[in-house]
Amino acid sequence: MSLGLAHVKALSGIVGNENIYTDKAHLIAYSYDATRNRFNPDAVLFPRDEKDVSEVLRYCDKNGIIIVPRGAGSGFTGGSLSVKGGIILAFEKHMNKILEIDMDNMVAVVQPGVINMELQKAVEAKGLFYPPDPASEEHSTIGGNVSENAGGMRAAKYGITKDYVMALRAVLPNGEIIRAGKRTIKDVAGYNIAGILIASEGTLAVITEITLKLITKPKFTKTAFGVFPSVKHAMSAVYKTFAEGITPVAMEFLDNLSIKAVEQRFKKGLPMDAGAILITDVDAPVQNLLDEQMAKIDEVFKQNGCNEFKIAKDENEAKDLWFARRNCSQSITVYGSKKLNEDVTVPRSKLPELLDEIDKISKKYDILIPCFGHTGDGNVHTNVMVDGSDKKQVEIGHKAIEEIFRAAVDLGGTLSGEHGIGISKAPFMKMAFTDTEMNLFCSIKKAFDPNNILNPYKMGLD
Ligand SMILES: Cc1cc2nc3c(=O)[nH]c(=O)nc-3n(C[C@H](O)[C@H](O)[C@H](O)COP(=O)(O)OP(=O)(O)OC[C@H]3O[C@@H](n4cnc5c(N)ncnc54)[C@H](O)[C@@H]3O)c2cc1C
Repeated sequence: MSLGLAHVKALSGIVGNENIYTDKAHLIAYSYDATRNRFNPDAVLFPRDEKDVSEVLRYCDKNGIIIVPRGAGSGFTGGSLSVKGGIILAFEKHMNKILEIDMDNMVAVVQPGVINMELQKAVEAKGLFYPPDPASEEHSTIGGNVSENAGGMRAAKYGITKDYVMALRAVLPNGEIIRAGKRTIKDVAGYNIAGILIASEGTLAVITEITLKLITKPKFTKTAFGVFPSVKHAMSAVYKTFAEGITPVAMEFLDNLSIKAVEQRFKKGLPMDAGAILITDVDAPVQNLLDEQMAKIDEVFKQNGCNEFKIAKDENEAKDLWFARRNCSQSITVYGSKKLNEDVTVPRSKLPELLDEIDKISKKYDILIPCFGHTGDGNVHTNVMVDGSDKKQVEIGHKAIEEIFRAAVDLGGTLSGEHGIGISKAPFMKMAFTDTEMNLFCSIKKAFDPNNILNPYKMGLD
């Protein structure tokens, strides 16, 4: 499908000729995300402000033109892909400003195209803290983070994007502007529309302004590293640490395959025969509280089989302890040219059972599944490694993925802790939700977007 000349002219009239592109280079540049799937849009459009967004949406709604909002395109599930053409609405050119940092109420107001790390730096310069830290923090936008409800390593203690969204401004597909939420801690008037828009993956409305809660930056942090004989021992240590009343900022893990992959690639002297390692950060407003937490973690880890426990003496040592975790994603490609990477999540106490199930699936299909991730919040990155040129192996890999999803759902978990549904996980929605629940999702979509112009063919709704 291509956008007729009359539509291009009408849209240029709204945003200006310099903000609409239909040339090949732009269509290709905006055709992909981190899934590496590619779908060319018909046009790429850079709105200057909320009014532009409103007029563009009104025009497209009337003319049945698909709109796909896009942040940095770092999504792992195809949410920002224009799978059946239409217009990509991108915010990085104009709608990328931090509008306000309100020190008195500890709130930031931003446009959707602001990069996560830029916001973190801006508020930290004022002694405040915005905790959500997806690994894509250098690139991904706050608009994309809200639309995917992104989380990061600090989620174990500080929660995820939804815990910081106080209010949103958004444009409905018919061009009307809505406000959802308030700059108040308490707000119980009406339905929680902001809550519905968070993680809606651009399918309900285009978010044009975000009001975020900030907190005070913790003064002291410390990093520790524990080596365990098996994944089961490590997973028990994870949930028992929290059950003992310690809430680490991050609690990340690598299994034996992930450890070996990093060691093979970087020769860092990692324990090759370890079943798993855990890397954890704690923070506190005062030093002795920090030391108390570390002493307790040391105790719980040892009670759960930890045979080596190191605490970083300074920032450089902390960086060293984090090295394996920061580099495991790229290292595991030693096991196969294609990585089928999912991010299932279960309640923390179910982690040992989840990892056990994954081990059985790996043996059943004779396929390697290195696992690592954010065990402090029950989120495991499972990586089914296959030879991308071997069709049969890729097919088997997908079967293994389906069984991993089933195991997570059966353990009371979810298909995705971070990456969302998009197109990649759409076929599995019916595994996780009943017909009644899916119908409710579809009714919500219809209420916001009756003509189905906003990011259709996503989240299993079509
Ligand atoms: C190396 C790497 C590491 C990653 N690590 C993490 C991680 O630790 N945690 C995590 O949660 N995710 C992670 N991700 C996934 C991804 O970065 C997040 O999902 C991120 O929130 C996407 O932001 P984005 O700006 O790139 O949005 P995009 O990918 O461009 O879009 C994501 C979705 O948001 C919608 N959208 C974007 N802007 C708007 C708007 N203004 N209004 C309405 N809808 C909008 C899009 O339509 C799409 O559905 C990682 C990705 C990569 C490549």
